[in-house]
Amino acid sequence: MAKQLKCGDLMPGCNFVAEGKDVSEVMAKAAAHAKKDHGMTAIPPDVAKKAQAAIRDK
Ligand SMILES: [Zn+2]
Repeated sequence: MAKQLKCGDLMPGCNFVAEGKDVSEVMAKAAAHAKKDHGMTAIPPDVAKKAQAAIRDK
């Protein structure tokens, strides 16, 4: 099932939504977005954990 992650769940005010066919694809897109738009060069483990928890079935 397709998955999505709303960045706004983690970063209030952000409208970005990462979508993918599975969790790893969503996480890859979210990581690229966090790097580009939030200046995060690396995703800390606690943020990655929160992101994983915020991923929903689409
Ligand atoms: Zn964002």
